[in-house]
Amino acid sequence: MATDKVSQEYGSLLFTDTDMQERLPKPTYKKLMSVIKNGEPLDIDIANEVAHAMKDWALERGATHFTHWFQPLTGITSEKHDSFITPREDGTVLMAFSGKELVQGEPDASSFPSGGLRATFEARGYTVWDPTSPAFIKDEVLCIPTAFISYTGEALDKKTPLLRAEVALEKQAKRALALFGQKPHRVYTTIGPEQEYFLVREEDYQARPDLILAGRTLFGCEPAKGQELEEHYFGAIRPTVNEFMKELDDELWKLGIPARTKHNEVAPCQHELAPIFEKGPLAIDDNLLTMEKMKLVASRHGLTCLQHEKPFEYVNGSGKHNNWSICADDRNLLEPGDDPQDNLQFLVVLACLVAAVDCHADLLRASVASAGNDHRLGANEAPPAIISVFLGDALTPIVESLVRKEQPEAHSRELMDTGVPSLPNVLRDNTDRNRTSPFAFTGNKFEFRMCGSQQNLSGPNTVLDLAVAEQFDRFVAYMDGVGEQDFVNVAMRFVRHTFRDHHRILFDGNGYSEEWEQEAARRGLPNLKTAPDALPSLIEPENIKFFEKYGVLSEAEVHARYIAKAEQYAKLLNIEANTMVYMTRHMYLPALFDYSGDIATSVATKAEIGIESKTEKALVQRLTDGIGAISDAVDDLEAKDAQAKGFDDPQAADDCYRDVVIPAMAVLRAAVDDMERICGHDYWPVPSYNKMLYYV
Ligand code: ADP
Ligand code: MG
Repeated sequence: MATDKVSQEYGSLLFTDTDMQERLPKPTYKKLMSVIKNGEPLDIDIANEVAHAMKDWALERGATHFTHWFQPLTGITSEKHDSFITPREDGTVLMAFSGKELVQGEPDASSFPSGGLRATFEARGYTVWDPTSPAFIKDEVLCIPTAFISYTGEALDKKTPLLRAEVALEKQAKRALALFGQKPHRVYTTIGPEQEYFLVREEDYQARPDLILAGRTLFGCEPAKGQELEEHYFGAIRPTVNEFMKELDDELWKLGIPARTKHNEVAPCQHELAPIFEKGPLAIDDNLLTMEKMKLVASRHGLTCLQHEKPFEYVNGSGKHNNWSICADDRNLLEPGDDPQDNLQFLVVLACLVAAVDCHADLLRASVASAGNDHRLGANEAPPAIISVFLGDALTPIVESLVRKEQPEAHSRELMDTGVPSLPNVLRDNTDRNRTSPFAFTGNKFEFRMCGSQQNLSGPNTVLDLAVAEQFDRFVAYMDGVGEQDFVNVAMRFVRHTFRDHHRILFDGNGYSEEWEQEAARRGLPNLKTAPDALPSLIEPENIKFFEKYGVLSEAEVHARYIAKAEQYAKLLNIEANTMVYMTRHMYLPALFDYSGDIATSVATKAEIGIESKTEKALVQRLTDGIGAISDAVDDLEAKDAQAKGFDDPQAADDCYRDVVIPAMAVLRAAVDDMERICGHDYWPVPSYNKMLYYV
């Protein structure tokens, strides 16, 4: 028995495998395990027994309620709490929780965005227990991870398609691996999400309606000091933040979330938390829970955790690197092996990945598209909106010579003996130094770096899983009828052809540069700069077919996701525009009236006693001109927002927000920020960047 506090408390609020083994009768436990491991159906007797054990476990830990925890199409997670109490006639209560309550819930589906699915089908929605993700206790509530589906089985959430994509990937990967003589029991993805976030003082947050309503500052002139010294990244963690991080770790560990690395990020008051990777869907559940906990724990330290992709202009925004790999039983398929057979398999997997990203770059881009992430992608702080793959110094020459072998003038035969190149061991320590690549091979995993900090990673991973599944399927078809003696040759041909056909997606230069944008255009790579540019890819006919082919999303489900995302974009921008109008009319203009009025009064008073006040007069003039510019800009923004709101079609609305409203927002911001530079500190109605970004 461990004696240190961390080992003792780790996972104490998680209904773990050990808890189940201890509390469930052996046959029940065994049956449940085969449901979890082999995806077998769950019968109600088993569910009743599990529910009973889970309830006892939860009650012992002070839980009073339970909830079906799920991931709606917009927002992060949802829950509705039900207490365990069942009153008895004698006035006492029984704490009850049935198998039926465990496996199925019925939240009021009508209050969640469904992208029109419920209108087409049926109003009811159900949450269904996902036994592959363990239950946990959060604030005295037993939380049961669930999928959220409609009465007729359409997925109303983000988790269901991911679970389906994992099934598709497993199936196709097993077919491909079988050709290498492997019969793994399970094939699954592993994900390690690196979460970036900002911490600001709660009092500053409370004083900024833009942070409260839009999650980011919509105004604010450049701070005296930005991130140019790059001292924050390497600097010591502030004491307040350190206290926050310690408590966060404790809370996460109790939930069995393997939080590992914490450090400052480049921007002032920006930080990062990286957990140890876990099975894909579980890692995503844990990331969502981490995001929730970050907000909660911050509030206990007088801080507010900002998870928006761009809380502050002038300094970096926040992303979430999605480290991804695929595992067969316990073996990482992106880990090169020691002998040629293993290397061949590694190269096939790698080629499949490269092809997957090239074939579905538009969908990967769409999967990370949001109003918030538009501020990062392509803004010299995050990968551009163009998807490319970086293979690193060790792999690139190997791949290049493989491709060249097809051309007679190439002389790279020293790498090939049996046709399979030997992969140098250095590959394992190959840490990628190209931080500008959106999709980088980092030794034994790929890192997809375009995801936004407040995003649910289910979307991008659904696309990624499915795109790779499709390539494994293609490999199996390619190898059809190939005899044993030709296997290596034909498989190598598959690898070479695949790298050759998808060569355009490989890029190891500076992804932030303008030349790359031009080069990418020559290569025919999509460059979908904004969310409204990217989202329509979702409903391209061939993309709908792609989702349908492996049973991940039906046409109606794809449409629903497109509509939900497109509407979300317009709604968010409308909120931002409204917030700007509100702050301008109710805060900035009155402040400027006061300030300019006070100075004007002083000018007049001084004039009465014969003192000429040139500087003050000039200032009053500048303020008055500024007030005029702000006033025009706010009227204009209101009119343009009304124009965008007038569209029924979400795409038309989004296009209008991008082309018409966003520029008007920029004009208003510039006019207000201009006045912030000259307005007296005591008059300015909100905390400045200088104040918010630098606290102790
Ligand atoms: P970085 O240099 O980007 O900080 P790290 O080595 O610290 O990279 O790893 C970043 C993340 O990648 C961590 O969350 C880690 O658990 C995760 N990771 C490592 N190996 C894998 C893997 N095989 N599959 C998925 N994620 C992984
Ligand atoms: Mg990283």
